[in-house]
Amino acid sequence: MSTPRKYHECQDAPVGTFSEAFARLPLERLAEQSRQADLARVDAVLRRGQARTLEDFAALISPAAGERIEQMAAHSQRITQRFFGKAVRLFAPMYLSNECVNVCKYCGFSRHNDIPRITIPVSKVVEQAERLARQGFRSLLLVAGEHPKWVSNGYVAECIKRTLPIMPAVSIELGPMEAPDYAHLVEAGAEALLVYQETYYQPTYEELHTAGPKKYFAWRMDTPERGYEAGFRRLGIGALLGLHDWRYEALAVAAHAQHLLRKCWKAQVSVSLPRMRPAAGGWQPNTDYLMSDRELVQTIAALRMLLPHVGITISTREPPSLRNGIVPLGVTLMSAGASTEPGGYDHFDENQWTPTKEQPGEQFHIADERSPAQIAAMIRSHGYEAVWKDFDQALVTDPSRELAPA
Ligand code: SF4
Repeated sequence: MSTPRKYHECQDAPVGTFSEAFARLPLERLAEQSRQADLARVDAVLRRGQARTLEDFAALISPAAGERIEQMAAHSQRITQRFFGKAVRLFAPMYLSNECVNVCKYCGFSRHNDIPRITIPVSKVVEQAERLARQGFRSLLLVAGEHPKWVSNGYVAECIKRTLPIMPAVSIELGPMEAPDYAHLVEAGAEALLVYQETYYQPTYEELHTAGPKKYFAWRMDTPERGYEAGFRRLGIGALLGLHDWRYEALAVAAHAQHLLRKCWKAQVSVSLPRMRPAAGGWQPNTDYLMSDRELVQTIAALRMLLPHVGITISTREPPSLRNGIVPLGVTLMSAGASTEPGGYDHFDENQWTPTKEQPGEQFHIADERSPAQIAAMIRSHGYEAVWKDFDQALVTDPSRELAPA
C-alpha cells in the first residue's frame, strides 16, 4: 500500500519564484516521456489511484493512458467528490474594456486589430451586474485588456466596490500589476486573481507577444505570487491550448500549480486549460496543437489525480456536449451565459439570455451559448448542485486531510 501524502508538504521551506524554478524544469523531457509512456507505467499510477509526481502525471496524459480513460475518470470523480462534494460553482465574466496596449497575435483585443474600442462606465458595470444577478449569479469575474490607466485611475477598484453589494464574490483578470497595486484591489474587495500564462513555451510566447508589457515572460509568470503577496487568497492559472504542444502546456500548468500550493499555501488555487477559439484579426488556433475532447477529459482527470484540492475551471469556449459530459469528472467551476464584449450583456434578452444583436467587439465567440438557467439545469441533471454563491471556505473540505490511496 502506498503512503498517504499531506497537502502542504514542506510548506515552511523557503521557496523562490516560479520563474526561477521553471528554468530548471525538464518539461520537454517530460512531454517526450509522456508520448512514449507504455501501459505498464500508466497502470502503476492507476493502481495507486493518485499521481504523486510530474512523471506520474506525464504517464496519465500519454497516448497509452487514453486506453484507460474510464478508470481515470472514475478516480477523478471519486477524488473530486471527496474534496469538493457534488457541486459546480457558476460564475459570469464581465468584460470591462477591450482597450489594450499589448500585441498578442491570437487575441481579438490586440492593439492593432481594427475593432470598436470601449471601456464601460462604472454605472454600466453596476447595471450589468444587476442583470447577471437576476440570472442567478453571485460570483463575478471582471475582465479587461491591459492598460496602465487601470492602475492609476482607480477605475477597477471602483468597479469592485460598486459591484460587491450585488455580487458577493468578485474576481479579476487584468494585465499583471505590482503587488502594491494589487493591494488596492484586495482592499476594494476582490478575492481572486486570474492570470493565464497563455503558453509556457518561451520561444512561442516571444513570437506571439511582440509589443507591450506582456512580452516579459517571467514577469507574467510570477504574477500570481505578487497577487498572493498583496493578499489574494484565490489564484487562478492556466494555458491557452492551441499555441504549443498541449502535453508540454499541461505539464507546465501542473508544475505551476504545485509551486503555488507550496509557496502560496494559504490560497486556493484553480487551473484552466481553455482550448482556443478563432479571434478577430483572422487568427486561427494551430490544429497541430489542439487536443481532442477525449484528450481534454483525460487531462482533467490526470490533473485531479495529481492535484486533488485544486479547482478546475471549464469555460464557455467548450461546446455543450463536452461541458455536459465533464460535470461529474473533476470540474469545479464553470462560466455560463457569457459575453466577451465590453457592455455585451446590455444586448441580452433577459428571458432567454441570448444576444439580441451582433457583438462586434467580442474577444472571441463562445461555443456554449446556453443560458445560465439551462447550464444550472444541466448540472442538476447529473445529481450535482449548481452553486451560484462562491464556496464558503468553511464548507470546503479541510485541505489538510490526507488523500488515501485507492
Ligand atoms: S490577450 Fe489580453 S493582453 Fe493580449 S491583446 Fe488580448 S486583452 Fe490584450
